[in-house]
Amino acid sequence: MTPAEIIEIKREGKKHTREQIRTIVQGVVGKEVDEAQASAWLMAAFINGLDDEETTWLTQEIAASGDQLDLRALPKPWVDKHSTGGVGDKTTIAVLPILAACGITVVKMSGPGLGRTGGTIDKLQAIPGFRTDLTPDQLIAQAKEIGIALSGQTESLAPADGILYRLRGVTATVDSIPLIVSSILSKKIAGGAEIVILDVKCGAGAFMPTLDRAEELAKKLREIGKLSGLRAHTVISDMDQPLGRTAGNLIEVQEAIRTLRGKESGRFLELCRHVSALALWKAEKHPSHGDALAQVDQVIRDGTAKAKLIEWLSRQGGNAAFLADIENIDHLAENFSEVHYHGQSGWVSRVDADAVGWAVVDLGGGRRTKDSTIDGRIGIESHVQVGDRIERGAKLFSVYASDLDSNYQQAISRLEAAVSVSQVPVQARPVILRSD
Ligand code: URA
Repeated sequence: MTPAEIIEIKREGKKHTREQIRTIVQGVVGKEVDEAQASAWLMAAFINGLDDEETTWLTQEIAASGDQLDLRALPKPWVDKHSTGGVGDKTTIAVLPILAACGITVVKMSGPGLGRTGGTIDKLQAIPGFRTDLTPDQLIAQAKEIGIALSGQTESLAPADGILYRLRGVTATVDSIPLIVSSILSKKIAGGAEIVILDVKCGAGAFMPTLDRAEELAKKLREIGKLSGLRAHTVISDMDQPLGRTAGNLIEVQEAIRTLRGKESGRFLELCRHVSALALWKAEKHPSHGDALAQVDQVIRDGTAKAKLIEWLSRQGGNAAFLADIENIDHLAENFSEVHYHGQSGWVSRVDADAVGWAVVDLGGGRRTKDSTIDGRIGIESHVQVGDRIERGAKLFSVYASDLDSNYQQAISRLEAAVSVSQVPVQARPVILRSD
C-alpha cells in the first residue's frame, strides 16, 4: 500500500492494520514516506485518533525503528523517568542524580523542546561541551561507571520518534494522547527500562490543559505501557504556573544545581522529592514512599546528589572550568531587564505558564521551526508565585536576552500580561495533583 493510501485510511477515520503503521514508521526512517506525507498522516491521526491497539502497534513499531538498549550488563532495577513537558521543567536534571546517589542506575533518552515547553536536551546543551549523542555502548559504559547516562534521540535509538516528534512540534499535532503515548513509551522501550515514572503535566503550560485530559493521558500511559511490557507509574503535576523559579536553558540547569545544594525550597523541590521517592519505592528499594523520601532527603542534605550531578555533567563532556563556575550569572545573556507590577496591591492569582513559555521562545530559547537554533543563555526568572502577596512596583520577572529586537518586545509584553492579581487571598493549586 502506498503512503497516500494509508493516509487516506486515517483521514476517513478508519482503523489501521499493524502493517500499515509499520509502513509509515519504517518509511519515515527510510525516507520512502516524505515529511509532507508524515505530517499529513500525523494530522489525520491527530484528528481521527488511534485506538488502543493502533497506539500499542505504533509504540512498538517506533521502538523497533532502531536499536534497543540491552541493559543486562547493568544492575537491576532499570528505572527511567519522563515528563510530558512543561515550562521550567528541569526535573530530570535533578532527579537522575538523586536516583543514582540512592543506588539506582538510570539510562535515559530525552527529547528536545516542543513548542513552548523546553526540552532537557536543550537545557543540557547550554553547557559547553556537553554531549547528547552517546552511542548505545557509550551509554551502557557510562551508566555502569557512574550510574547515569542520558542521550538525545540518536539515529540509532527510536529514530522514527526523533523525526515524528520534530514534525509534530511544527504542525500543531503535539497534544494528541495516542501520539504522546507512543512517542514517550517507544523511547522507554528502546531505552531498555522496566520501570518508568511518567510525570504528566497539567495546566496552561502543558499539552494537557485540564485534569480530566491529564488523567486520560496518565491512564493510557499505564495501559499501553502494560500492553508493551513496561511497569509504568504516573504522577500528574501542576503546570498552570511555571515550575520553580526559572525558565530557559542554562538558567534552569543553575536552578537544578542550587536545588541539589539544598539552596531552594518550594514546588520544584517538592516535585523532585516526590518523583524520586516514587521511583525508589516502585523499584522496591524501600517498603513505602515515606521511607524512600527519607533517603532522598538524605542524599540532598549530605551533598551526594549534587556531587553526582556534577560528575554526570562532566563525564558527559561538560567543560570542567565552566562547571566549576556554572552558577555564575555572567554565563547568561548580557541584556538584563526587569518586568515590574504596576497594578493594585493584592495576591497573585495567576502566573501564566503558557505566556512565560512563549516568552522563552520569543527570546530564542525555544524552537519556532524544527530547525531553529536554541540560545542556551537566555532566561527568565520569576519572582512571584500564585498565592504570594504583591505590592505595586514589585519585581515580577528578570529577563536575560541576547537581542533587543521585536521578539524581545513581544516577550516583555507577554510577561507583563502573564500575572494576574486578586484582591482576596489566593491558594495555589498543589504541585502534585495525582500519584498512582
Ligand atoms: N514528550 C515526548 O517524549 N513525546 C511527546 O509527544 C510529548 C512529550
